[in-house]
Amino acid sequence: MPDLHELEEDGQLPDPLSETSLSPVPGLIHRYPDRVVLLVSNRCPVYCRFCMRKRHVGAGNTPPSRDALDKALRYIAATPAIRDVILSGGDPLMLDDASLRHILSHLRAISHVKIIRIGTRIPVTLPERVTAELCNLLKQFHPIYVNTHFNHPDEITPKSAKACDQLADAGIPLGNQTVLLRGVNDNVETMKYLMTGLLEIRVRPYYIHQMDLVRGTAHFRTPISKGLEIIRALRGHVSGMAVPHYVIDLPDGKGKVPILPDTVERSGDTIYLMNYQGEKIAYRDITTPPS
Ligand SMILES: *Cc1c(COP(=O)(O)O)cnc(C)c1O
Ligand code: SF4
Repeated sequence: MPDLHELEEDGQLPDPLSETSLSPVPGLIHRYPDRVVLLVSNRCPVYCRFCMRKRHVGAGNTPPSRDALDKALRYIAATPAIRDVILSGGDPLMLDDASLRHILSHLRAISHVKIIRIGTRIPVTLPERVTAELCNLLKQFHPIYVNTHFNHPDEITPKSAKACDQLADAGIPLGNQTVLLRGVNDNVETMKYLMTGLLEIRVRPYYIHQMDLVRGTAHFRTPISKGLEIIRALRGHVSGMAVPHYVIDLPDGKGKVPILPDTVERSGDTIYLMNYQGEKIAYRDITTPPS
């Protein structure tokens, strides 16, 4: 829900990740050499108060124009280093099937684009949008990966589970990106239920995001020690497949960095590794590989 705390200023910026300055053409973010984010929609079924793209999402009612989209597609076609295109927004699945087909078929016509990912919260926020027609459309453009966005085990409902089921049945590997939110999911038990519950609906936890420094979201921030505590409580205690990377997206577009609890100490050739039970176990390393 909207909250007066959103008006508090804490040195936060509308675009702390400098996405706008990393845009070679409007609507395309090119930060890493081999992959780009293509913003194909500025609408969502639900406007999350913690959204990291508040500057863009929900601003006006028009999706990017055909012309802007065509410019972005031309940039991708002219840049052979791009092998992975991530459709994002807003929510890409707010587009109708015909618009999605237009985008996907143009991307698939570019031979160096190997992977297409769709970042969408639709399975949670509007599961009815995942129709048989949509699944049939998507599977014509494989390999398609979908990363969805569950933040709390209460979001795993019969409807959201069914939407994921249909996508998985269309051969789409499903991942999940969770935002660590104060007062919502910043505790070990909630995250354990969420991550193991996601695996049960065939969604593989991918990232837990530390909150970005986006204006109007400071009241959701947690200290980094909280994220590390959660990772420590997951690793070894639940299936490894249920343990996502905990990442910080660095300011100024410097990229995502995974952070881990301190698990390694070294003494000469021996490293001491902390296991999931908190025991320090010696492991013999080599300083020069055997020839
Ligand atoms: C997160 C992000 C990606 C994708 O990163 P992965 O670690 O490959 O999931 C790509 N481009 C931008 C600008 C991003 O913010
Ligand atoms: S669904 Fe994603 S893009 Fe849309 S408002 Fe929520 S966080 Fe932002």
